[in-house]
Amino acid sequence: MGAINGAEFLRRLDSTPREVWFGNEKITGSVSRHRAFAGVARSLAALYDMQLAPELRDVMTYDSPTTGKTVGVSFLQPKTREELQKRTKMMKTWADYSGGTLGRTGDYLNSSVMAMAAARDYFASGERNFGANVQKYYEHVRENDLLMTHTLINPQANRGVGPSKQADPFIAARVVEKNSEGVLIRGARMLATLPIADEILVFPSTVIRSGQDDMPYSVAFALPVSTKGLSFLCRESFADDSVYDHPMASRFDEQDAVVCFDDVLVPWERVFLLEDPERANKLSEATDAVVFMAHQATTREVAKAEFMVGVATLLAETIGAEQFPQVQERIAEMILTLESMRALLTASEANAKPNRWGLMTPDYVPLNTARNLWPRASPALAAVIKQTGASGLMAIPPEEIMDSAARARVDKYYQAKEAGAEERIRLFKLAWDLVGSSFGGRQELYERFFFGDPVRTASNYYLWYDKEPYKSRVKELLHRREA
Ligand SMILES: Cc1cc2nc3c(=O)[nH]c(=O)nc-3n(C[C@H](O)[C@H](O)[C@H](O)COP(=O)(O)OP(=O)(O)OC[C@H]3O[C@@H](n4cnc5c(N)ncnc54)[C@H](O)[C@@H]3O)c2cc1C
Repeated sequence: MGAINGAEFLRRLDSTPREVWFGNEKITGSVSRHRAFAGVARSLAALYDMQLAPELRDVMTYDSPTTGKTVGVSFLQPKTREELQKRTKMMKTWADYSGGTLGRTGDYLNSSVMAMAAARDYFASGERNFGANVQKYYEHVRENDLLMTHTLINPQANRGVGPSKQADPFIAARVVEKNSEGVLIRGARMLATLPIADEILVFPSTVIRSGQDDMPYSVAFALPVSTKGLSFLCRESFADDSVYDHPMASRFDEQDAVVCFDDVLVPWERVFLLEDPERANKLSEATDAVVFMAHQATTREVAKAEFMVGVATLLAETIGAEQFPQVQERIAEMILTLESMRALLTASEANAKPNRWGLMTPDYVPLNTARNLWPRASPALAAVIKQTGASGLMAIPPEEIMDSAARARVDKYYQAKEAGAEERIRLFKLAWDLVGSSFGGRQELYERFFFGDPVRTASNYYLWYDKEPYKSRVKELLHRREA
């Protein structure tokens, strides 16, 4: 099989049975034509088409080391800085397609599984060789170009206590029993973006206490989304048929869903970690999966910051506001964020070193800095777009007016310095969809939270960052005795 194209992605999407609930509707027909998924499915198909387009083939694919087939570059286990940068180029090419608004293109989790497979010995504990499972799974998704979603956190019922102390110990997904076939899972996980994936990864993220009661929640595995007992409960859709009215949402609404496990059997070969809180808590850092995910995320965030700078600049120029110093200052602040993110990405690659699992690994100091900077800086980028567009972001009549008796008034009163009415409306609709519509609001929330709670992420950053040299310098000056 190897790297797929868009047609194969859509064929697989429609032929894979899955239990997806959209309101009171259990989706039974073609998922790729359902109103909640048609737009994003088309966009993902376009990304898969890029893989095999003759002019991009070298950027997007490489030869599988086991089968020789053409496979996607986000599966590449980099051994050199050039290979690491090949990964960046591929990921940036995909990210640019959606202006960085598609967070869960395949490269995000491909990066994670790629890194975990290199670190397979980390999983090889106890009598069962989970390390071999991780390696086999990596090769399976790489050779079949499977799209993965993931779910890390427990439902938000009572954050004051752990999963075993909730009103019902089966709210959070946990092991019910182990038998000769595998592990039975019951409960739910919140949240999984992109329920139209082929596979779901279930990994622990927040710290699991090592008491006996919390043991059953310490489990990592992967399953096809078609597995019996697995279901997805979607939020309302922000997608819309009209590309004109919602140019971003109609194309890039990835959808988010709560994942329910109704006594789901996870076969032993799909179990990666079991009842091992200590290993679960350190998994992400110890395998460097978090570093490669941060590398993908920062690449996408650079693409998104570039796109947002483009939108703000066009808004300003279209209405002749680019001459005002405060407009220039705000857009300059956006550029400061963009260039800071780019510099962090570049530094991470320049300082890359082989990790203990043999992968050329980007430096995590700049990437962890980007991970903490972006949730704080990206809402400010959206704010500048709102400040620049001002009331123009509401002067965006629905598409139908263009074919109505009011068209002449639209052409006259919506014209702008640098654009006719239709062009100006298109631009302002895009800007509003990016930062203000339901889709835009979800984008902001996503950037704040997708890589963890920013509060706890910053605490971890504080504890992890090596501050000793700076403390020593201050102490040296405090005790310096000049002659
Ligand atoms: C749009 C979107 C898409 C997402 N997609 C995915 C996905 O595909 N897969 C996935 O696994 N996850 C996904 N997430 C979830 C993401 O991982 C979480 O949002 C993030 O880890 C924070 O957890 P939470 O949302 O449960 O917040 P909570 O942990 O419930 O926190 C709520 C509030 O309480 C505070 N708080 C809670 N507990 C503590 C504590 N112990 N110490 C200090 N403060 C605390 C937080 O700071 C926050 O302000 C997505 C989130 C969003 C918004």
